[in-house]
Amino acid sequence: MPVTPGTPHEVLNQPPAFEDVNLFEADAPLREALEREGGGAFRARVSSFGALLGSARVLALGREANRHAPELLTHDRFGHRIDEVAFHPAWHEVMRLAMDASLHNLPWREPVPGAQAARSALHLLLSQVEAGACCPLTMTFACVPALRHEKDVYEALAPALRGTEYDPRLVPLAEKRSVLVGMAMTEKQGGSDVRANTTRAEPGGAPGEYRLTGHKWFCSAPMSDAFLTLAQAERGLSCFLVPRVLPDGARNPFAIQRLKDKLGNRSNASSEVEYRGTTGRMLGEEGRGVRTILEMVHHTRLDCVTASAGLMRHALAQAAHHAAHRSAFGRRLADQPLMQAVLADLALEVEAATALALRLSRAYDEGPEDEAARYFARIATAVGKYWVCKRAPSAIYEAMECLGGNGYVEESPLPRLYREAPVNAIWEGSGNVICLDVLRAMAREPESLPALLGELRLARGGHPAFDAACAELERELRGPADAEARARGVVERMALALEASLLLRATPEIGEAFCAARLAGSGGLLFGALPAGVDRRGLLERLERGRT
Ligand SMILES: Cc1cc2nc3c(=O)[nH]c(=O)nc-3n(C[C@H](O)[C@H](O)[C@H](O)COP(=O)(O)OP(=O)(O)OC[C@H]3O[C@@H](n4cnc5c(N)ncnc54)[C@H](O)[C@@H]3O)c2cc1C
Repeated sequence: MPVTPGTPHEVLNQPPAFEDVNLFEADAPLREALEREGGGAFRARVSSFGALLGSARVLALGREANRHAPELLTHDRFGHRIDEVAFHPAWHEVMRLAMDASLHNLPWREPVPGAQAARSALHLLLSQVEAGACCPLTMTFACVPALRHEKDVYEALAPALRGTEYDPRLVPLAEKRSVLVGMAMTEKQGGSDVRANTTRAEPGGAPGEYRLTGHKWFCSAPMSDAFLTLAQAERGLSCFLVPRVLPDGARNPFAIQRLKDKLGNRSNASSEVEYRGTTGRMLGEEGRGVRTILEMVHHTRLDCVTASAGLMRHALAQAAHHAAHRSAFGRRLADQPLMQAVLADLALEVEAATALALRLSRAYDEGPEDEAARYFARIATAVGKYWVCKRAPSAIYEAMECLGGNGYVEESPLPRLYREAPVNAIWEGSGNVICLDVLRAMAREPESLPALLGELRLARGGHPAFDAACAELERELRGPADAEARARGVVERMALALEASLLLRATPEIGEAFCAARLAGSGGLLFGALPAGVDRRGLLERLERGRT
């Protein structure tokens, strides 16, 4: 290694940059899950997206979009209110690339088997490189099932919803080549309990139109072209579509008060807004707003799982890369037994999260034709949202430590991944609310629990700890009536059993390692304390094969 002119020392024992890696081809669990869950026909497309995202150029875009946070422009220089947000060019470029890949609409644009699984794979890949952009893309994807409640509104928007050309212009919806659609529910006095919403909606304007007055405390991606929002109409909380620009080209009143100064997710603008006689079109039945928007919420929850799996995967890939190139005490870190235990344990977590995310997507693929798949998706999405999102921060933290001090420094991607991770557990239903949602699914849609248990039973006999965990779960479900207080424990058991069931069937040796480490009671509370007898080599070899 040459001495850099002007410095008195050689730079030794630092890894090369992690770049120009095909993030899909390097990821054995994702490759296999895409195939297994029906998305094989999309493999080439997902692979080329993985190559694009892993290129030095696009990895740099992800960094830049986060270093240069969006800026609120309330007024133009002449004092007119404009309520716009200015983004760094890197943000626009990431949005363009992702929309070009159909990340925001693949299953609606190409409604063929496997499209959901393929879109989830695309999403899992993007979350590794620029998770902020995932937010508007997810909401745009997720709004479609809710918009379908209002046929004429949906049909008018459908061509633009199917568009793949990023079109950031604020122009009337009818002129857009593609649209982004956000979601504004949370108010100051309540986010989980949206029934507390105070925004009012009075009929006004054309038939079906209302004027909205009130506020939203969190409204991400405020440069979207329209928002699904909730407001109180005469017969109760109802769902509305609020466009940013009215058909005559005038701006719909949408006063952005502030942008949130967030822990992470910094490239993405999240705002506080006020509606001041803002025009909205009612979607679905008056007074049934929560029901109308719920399908959007379920689809965004799916993406919380996928994004969390992606964040963990990238942290692991960075840790494995570092360990392979860094030596301490005369040996590569990757060859040291304790580092191997940490990496293998993290790999196990990523295997499970990836398998679960893609299995969920298949249920969304099958849902329209298959009632059991719909029930499975209903309950398993909430279970996955709780568990995978909650596992991500600690897994990423542990991966950060594998890089030593370099992992704590902003030039490394680890701090960004770490700051991003908790949001997936908070938004779209925070942990407790999600656990209560699992109970609600079991009570209101009694077919959902058997759908979940049926999926578990497919792996019966795969490992004694798995069989015992399933029996214990069923006992717990028959348990005393304090279900609310026990909900976290029950949902955790469901999640672990589901992940084990998937892994045992997909890759039995990894499933067995998972059962030993997560179900048999002999694994540690922190990553890296794998019980004796767990096959670390298999996990590490899969990681190694995918590494540059
Ligand atoms: C970065 C970011 C972007 C966001 N973007 C949007 C957006 O675009 N649109 C939007 O509408 N919202 C958005 N949100 C808001 C988000 O969805 C809410 O913050 C979330 O739903 C929680 O609501 P809350 O903040 O009002 O907390 P609360 O509802 O007050 O909940 C606080 C805590 O209490 C718990 N809790 C609530 N009810 C119960 C109960 N019955 N039993 C036990 N525990 C309970 C919750 O799990 C949570 O941990 C965003 C949030 C963040 C952080």
